Amino acid sequence: MSLAPPPDRIRRLNELAYDLSWAWNAKAREVFRHLDYPLWRSTAHNPVRMLRLISRERVEEAAKDTSFLTLYDTAIQNLDRARMAVSTWWSQQVPDLSNCSIAYFSAEFALHQSLPIYAGGLGVLAGDHCKEASDVGLPLIGVGFMYPQGYFHQSVSSEGWQVELYERLNWEDAPVEHALKPDGRPCIVEVPLGDKTVRVSVWLVRLGRVKLYLLDTGLQENAPWDRELSARLYGGDSETRLRQEVVLGVGGVRALRMLGHDPTVWHMNEGHTAFLVIERMRESLERGESFESALEQVRRTTVFTTHTPVAAGHDAFAFHLVENYLAGLWRSIRGHRNAFLNLGHYDSGGGPLFNMTALALRTSGGVNTVSRLHRQVTSKMWAPIWPGKADPDRPVRAVTNGIHISTWIAPAMSNLFERYLGREWEERHEEPGFWDAILSIPDEELWAVRQSLRSFLFAFMRERVRQRWMEERLGPARVVAGGTLLDPASLTVGFARRFTAYKRAELIFRDPARLARILTAPRRPVQIVFAGKAHPADDQGKHLLQRVYRNAVDHAFGGRIAFVDDYDLHVAHFLVQGCDVWLNNPRKPLEACGTSGIKASVNGVINLSVGDGWWAEGYTGSNGWLIDGGVTSNDAAVDAADAESLYRLLEEQIVPAFYDRDEHGVPKRWLRIVKEAIRTVAPQFSARRMVKEYAEGMYIPMARRHLQDKRAQPAI
Ligand SMILES: *Cc1c(COP(=O)(O)O)cnc(C)c1O
Repeated sequence: MSLAPPPDRIRRLNELAYDLSWAWNAKAREVFRHLDYPLWRSTAHNPVRMLRLISRERVEEAAKDTSFLTLYDTAIQNLDRARMAVSTWWSQQVPDLSNCSIAYFSAEFALHQSLPIYAGGLGVLAGDHCKEASDVGLPLIGVGFMYPQGYFHQSVSSEGWQVELYERLNWEDAPVEHALKPDGRPCIVEVPLGDKTVRVSVWLVRLGRVKLYLLDTGLQENAPWDRELSARLYGGDSETRLRQEVVLGVGGVRALRMLGHDPTVWHMNEGHTAFLVIERMRESLERGESFESALEQVRRTTVFTTHTPVAAGHDAFAFHLVENYLAGLWRSIRGHRNAFLNLGHYDSGGGPLFNMTALALRTSGGVNTVSRLHRQVTSKMWAPIWPGKADPDRPVRAVTNGIHISTWIAPAMSNLFERYLGREWEERHEEPGFWDAILSIPDEELWAVRQSLRSFLFAFMRERVRQRWMEERLGPARVVAGGTLLDPASLTVGFARRFTAYKRAELIFRDPARLARILTAPRRPVQIVFAGKAHPADDQGKHLLQRVYRNAVDHAFGGRIAFVDDYDLHVAHFLVQGCDVWLNNPRKPLEACGTSGIKASVNGVINLSVGDGWWAEGYTGSNGWLIDGGVTSNDAAVDAADAESLYRLLEEQIVPAFYDRDEHGVPKRWLRIVKEAIRTVAPQFSARRMVKEYAEGMYIPMARRHLQDKRAQPAI
């Protein structure tokens, strides 16, 4: 922390800025909004940066401003209450496990746009998991990477080609501090990488009750190529990736040990993190245990979540590379090298490789997928891991993803819930019956909120284009593509996700003439807002994006299509709150879960989706629309049938429901669906339901058994 100390009366202001729980705590955010609103906006809501830039006079003025002090005192009280964990769901549920902790490893965490260490859905899930853990008192410790160049910023050229910009993080602006060992000194661990050693420093991010540790190889004493190891997320080739994964898995375990933590349960979020089991087994072997016993102990305390039904999404490396980079570990556990390599041995068609998912599946006692449909696909896809076991007996369970409601809900919507459901709505949001009261919200009020959220989105898009127009001297076509011709009162469809083939961003353009008729209908127009990045190495995805972009500037669509660049958490908030319809049309069953449609639904943005991922469980017949072409033969036939289904839904149901108004201009039928979406989705697809399912299904039973095992062991 390098910020100047604030005046005495608001002495803990810096502490408030350095606890990211402000990201989901409206009261804490109000402190910073009130402190200096223009600065709050120009820093894209980054309190640390704000406090670095703010004038001393303003801070001193605030220290005497009673309305500011009321906000400040409330926020500090909330922070203390949140951290003390006097009485939480966890402490009440499992008082016997009060000394346990759960390590949660992930290659990315999406917590707030000011900490750019995420790419997409996987990171959002990890971030929401941590936030919810803090809320319910689950003793989680996160472990990930501090990428000083993060994931790239996206800009789109006038030809529609994605340009990637890597920005160096200004450390002074990030809500991170050095993690300290129990003796108060900085934590630096050593990770053997081949015959060399990489030194890794550790940063701490405070998230209410939860701590997140981020590894960083950017130390002067490392070789230049090792320094860059943690520079970027998913930036390098396969070998770089392997080296990163060794640092994350092995370095993460060592960092926790050095910081004085002894987690009871270890959760691996996706296969990138799976080398942590190798390090934990090495620890047991060095204590003199047998390979089998070391493996068994690890299995009994490890949870693994797999995230993708796409084969290429699972990391696999040539054996000689793994052998080389783990050489420093083999040395101390001579004799077990082949047994270790066998744990990752898997042939998914192109010859055997060391497969990180196979390693994780073989070493985890609790394995889960992120939706029920994804469980079926995963069980089939990895069947050789469980020889002789039929599908129902394969040890894979489904824990469908959920979103952290306080993070994703629009403030205007939250106020409405507070008024009609009660102030305790955030506390009770996972009780299904609780949401029935949503029906008591007057349609006029709900509609007014929906309209205002749409107008926030448009103001945001316009402001972005205005900035770019001035700073980058954009041409007129790019100004149109940025959404300046969109109409704030018209039906708005949102489509925002990574550009990759299976998500079929182009599906809606299959019949351009028909789409043009829908979009440019004189009395009942429709408009579409696209956003999303293509992976830097995915040229096919970039071509897709380019074709979508060209449609946005095609005169035939009347300027009713926009492309918002640089999709991130900030953009996502405006989109999932401000559109009317959220479109999702992947090729089934390749979307493991998807969460943006959940964020949209809880804000009253109606989901229009293929029955894949969460929507296969969430769609009730009255809370949104199901795209279903009814065809499963070849890809071309599926696309044609799904496009037909999509057009018909738009023409026959969605457009009429949106534009049929009562005498006050309120779309009654539309709002019935809006209410039904909120009522059914918010409790069932919340991170609270999800985190409790992880706890009750895996963390708690594992922790209890572990304690029993320990008690049963004779004291040495
Ligand atoms: C929620 C979110 C995602 C994941 O949503 P999907 O529905 O899985 O595409 C990706 N990126 C950002 C920025 C998000 O906020």
